[in-house]
Formats: sequence, structure tokens, C-alpha cells
Amino acid sequence: SALLDVRDLVKTYGEGDAETRVLKGLDLSLETGELSALLGPSGSGKSTLLTILGTLMKPTSGQHIMLGQDLTTADDRNLTEFRNRHIGFVFQFHHLLPDFTALENVIFPSAVAAGRETRAARDRGRELLARVGLQDRTDFVATKLSGGQKQRVAIARALMNRPELVLADEPTGNLDRESATQVMELIAEINDNEQTTFLISTHDEKIAETCRRQVRVLDGRTASQSQS
Ligand code: ADP
Ligand code: ADP
Repeated sequence: SALLDVRDLVKTYGEGDAETRVLKGLDLSLETGELSALLGPSGSGKSTLLTILGTLMKPTSGQHIMLGQDLTTADDRNLTEFRNRHIGFVFQFHHLLPDFTALENVIFPSAVAAGRETRAARDRGRELLARVGLQDRTDFVATKLSGGQKQRVAIARALMNRPELVLADEPTGNLDRESATQVMELIAEINDNEQTTFLISTHDEKIAETCRRQVRVLDGRTASQSQS
């Protein structure tokens, strides 16, 4: 069955004369284990959609179901808990804490959620850094890492709480071609090995082609979907 299902999703910003309707009845389903690219021109609503799917913002109307739960009717406390347990985020700008080490950055969200830093979290953090090829950068502060390395730390951080779904908003947008390719290869490898579902927004067709499925957003709706 579907991991995620949104139906007739509408999102408007502003009111009255300033009202902009960004999503106009968008439908999307993601099956467990899918690796999908979310394509669309700048301003087409990709970030808006990812923000809603990440439960960071509610849609104006429409249905949003993930893991069988109706998230449009859930209250803020339940949404926060749901998000922490089931969803990981990767952004265009890595958003690492600059004076913290790679390991500290990876375990930070779980340490905040748990109220302390546990031995188990440090072990998992080290294992994840090894998985993204940064075992020799564990104790480097973030400012000493290259752009591609920082994004790999951000991917490790997104995986820390074993989310079913990882949402990535232009994760390669700030990287050169070589680092971008490496980051996409890493995502594909994690997707293969762990059945983690990824939805990756990009305006770059070459990046999108490296994903197994492409979802195009145009004029606030799902325009087309293809498989490669
Ligand atoms: P994309 O990620 O595809 O570039 P966005 O979701 O960022 O698209 O933006 C879609 C449209 O919504 C744009 O026209 C943008 O200006 C508008 N928009 C985004 N966020 C807000 C906001 N908080 N308030 C008003 N308009 C917004
Ligand atoms: P970003 O643009 O994401 O901050 P960059 O790859 O441009 O990342 O690197 C930022 C700075 O870090 C640059 O000044 C670069 O020279 C430096 N840098 C990159 N890799 C290393 C490294 N391994 N050790 C020390 N400094 C590095």
C-alpha cells in the first residue's frame, strides 16, 4: 500500500487581493521504497509541497495521509511527534551548526528529542557517517568540510531517527556537478539498501533522470509522472 497519499491538495498564501493559489488540487502517491524526483520550474510550488508533506505547514484544503494516518486533522503535538519519528529533511543549504563536529551535527536532532546525548546515538551517528563515506571526518567541525561533504553530513543527520520518508529540497542546488552526482549516488545507494523512500525536488533534468521516477508539477497540479 502507499506510504503517502495526497489528494486534491490546495495551498493559498495571503488573503483578498494578495491571495496566491500555489497548489490547485494536486494529487500524489508514494509507494514505500520509491526514489522520486519532483520537477517543476522555479515558483511552481515544489517547496510548498515538500513543506506540507513534511507536516511543517498545513494545506488550505485537501487530504494528506501518511502511514495510514490522516495528517490534515492531527494537532500540532501529534504532528511534531509524527515528523520526528517518520520524516527526515535535507535542504539546499546544509543548515549544519558551523562550530559543531560532523558527529555532533548528525546526532543533534535526536539528542534534542531525547533530552540528552546517548551512547547509542553516538554509535549510530558514527555508523551513519561511515555509510556516507565520512568515517575519517567524524570529529571535523562543519566549517572544515567541503560543500559536498557537508551535504553528506546533512543526509546522515536526516537518517538518524530511521525515517520512512526523506524529503530533500534541491539538495544538489548548491553543489558542483561532481559533488551533486556523488550525493545522488549516495541517496540511490541508501534507497536500495534501506527501503527509505525519497522525494527530491530539483529543476535539473540530469539530476532528475538519476531517480527511478519523475513527478512534474505544473500550474499547481501534478502534470505528469514517468519512470526511468
Ligand atoms: P518552488 O519551490 O517550485 O520554487 P515555492 O513553493 O517556493 O516554489 O513557491 C511557489 C509560489 O508561492 C511562488 O510564487 C512563491 O512566491 C509563493 N510563496 C512561497 N512561499 C510563500 C509565502 N510564505 N507567502 C507568500 N507567497 C509564497
Ligand atoms: P560551502 O560553499 O558549502 O561552504 P565549500 O566547498 O565552498 O563549501 O567550502 C567552504 C570553505 O571550506 C572553502 O573556503 C574551502 O576552501 C574550505 N574547505 C573545503 N574543504 C576543506 C577541507 N577539507 N579542509 C579545510 N577547508 C576546507
